[in-house]
Amino acid sequence: MSVPVRKILSLAGDGIGTEVMTATRRVMDWFQSTGRVKFEITEGLIGGASYDVHKVPLTDDTIKQAMASDAVLLACIGGPQYDTLPYELRPERGLLRLRKEMGLFANLRPAIVMDALAAASSLKADLVRGLDIMIVRELIGGAYFGEPRGIENLPNGARRGYNTMAYATHEIQRVARAAFELARKRNKRLCSVDKANVLEASVVWRDEVTKLHKAEYADIELSHMYVDNCAMQLVRTPKQFDVILTENLFGDILSDLASMMTGSLGMLPSASLGAVAADGRQAALYEPVHGSAPDIAGKGIANPLAMISSFGMMLKYSLGMGAEADLLDKAMQNVLSAGIRTGDIIEPGQTPVSTNAMADAIVAELKKLAK
Ligand code: NAD
Repeated sequence: MSVPVRKILSLAGDGIGTEVMTATRRVMDWFQSTGRVKFEITEGLIGGASYDVHKVPLTDDTIKQAMASDAVLLACIGGPQYDTLPYELRPERGLLRLRKEMGLFANLRPAIVMDALAAASSLKADLVRGLDIMIVRELIGGAYFGEPRGIENLPNGARRGYNTMAYATHEIQRVARAAFELARKRNKRLCSVDKANVLEASVVWRDEVTKLHKAEYADIELSHMYVDNCAMQLVRTPKQFDVILTENLFGDILSDLASMMTGSLGMLPSASLGAVAADGRQAALYEPVHGSAPDIAGKGIANPLAMISSFGMMLKYSLGMGAEADLLDKAMQNVLSAGIRTGDIIEPGQTPVSTNAMADAIVAELKKLAK
């Protein structure tokens, strides 16, 4: 039987990026060693690492490589040494441009509380034990990209900054469709979050989601919630949600809020997906939610699990390897249950392990489970 070859672009970026990517590569190597997949990995630069070499945070060449890959695996970007660069040259611009050029309109952020980490949540363990929600955030529209935008000097010497939040039918439909499809594979419940009592962009959002529901997804239980109420409900009874669908700015905030329930930024993966092309290919980028953690970079102590889980999402959503993704989840849970922890998720009485030791523990567990 021929082994499928998957083209992966690996972008380690800045700060702890190289450390967590190296750890993830060990896990990828193990999956290759099973003979079920072969990865053809190209390494590229993004963020400050790209600026240092090319004087831009992302080159056209890297974008081309991203487009030619089955999936992009990215660690994190940024660092204090780049904070004084002009806006267009900052590391974040590289990431925003990559998402935009790849047309990644649906950002999937699972908030899952593993039993072993329920006590690490900022909420009471009972409220979050068993939590498994998926936030689908629209990623390339809304206030972050809307025009006009800018900062103007006023005649009285003051300044005025302004942005535009706008959503058109097709932008809403494509991300809503992605969310409905996910809900269909989960518990068939979708909560669409907006601010339709105040914002016209939200009025259109709510109408379009409702229309699509009626036309194509009547089997899914759809509810609508205002974003302020959703923020409150998420900390009150988070387990009431299955899939949450929302626009860019609201999703940015709500997904960070939900992430803290799971214990540590070092645990949180994400996937960003584009449209499915006629040949079945779908642009996809997988990255942890955390940043470059300059405070711990280079020390070998970063938690690689968010990056490794992002690779797990890649197995599931881009490579059609759902069983392998489940195996990886199980290995991570077992390792955590055995008390093997990096410093960010340590509990009293445990000794923190290094980034590489965590990766080695996951690989050892995978070997055991696969026997
Ligand atoms: P951060 O996520 O880098 O760090 C916040 C805190 O969480 C720090 O104390 C850090 O040590 C800790 N942390 C983060 N990831 C960890 C991990 N894997 N293991 C253990 N601890 C971890 O956020 P920040 O400090 O606000 O930002 C630092 C830089 O990262 C900035 O330049 C920012 O712009 C950038 N950033 C990038 C992304 C991204 O690449 N997607 C996201 C957020 C921030």
